[in-house]
Amino acid sequence: MSRIRSRFWDPAGSRYGMPTYPWRMAPAHLLTCRQLTAAGLRPGGQGVQAQVLWASRRHGALGVRAAYLYDVRFALPKRTATPAQLDALAKANAARRTCPDCRRDAGYVLPRHLGTCLDCADTQQRSAA
Ligand SMILES: [Zn+2]
Repeated sequence: MSRIRSRFWDPAGSRYGMPTYPWRMAPAHLLTCRQLTAAGLRPGGQGVQAQVLWASRRHGALGVRAAYLYDVRFALPKRTATPAQLDALAKANAARRTCPDCRRDAGYVLPRHLGTCLDCADTQQRSAA
């Protein structure tokens, strides 16, 4: 292990307050939120169990970036929406696309600052001018 990497090697968490690993050095049972999601899992109430730290120049200056890890053994299956929940969501989204002036489904979510579909907003603007 190189000297630069060993700076972030702290499996006991004595230096960083939680188990810490360098890039690509975390044990296989510790996954990021995204990795859990890809495996059809969610953290399921457990807090952050460990972190990966690495040095990055992403925003110009040299900084340390962190990825938080969750234990796959405490993870729970991802919840799927019930048909009733999906139905309610579909209705709410349809309401956001329906123009109050022409009562048509615009096919897109109405811009909040207009409150109408773009066609109605355009017509109003022309008649005002
Ligand atoms: Zn309209």
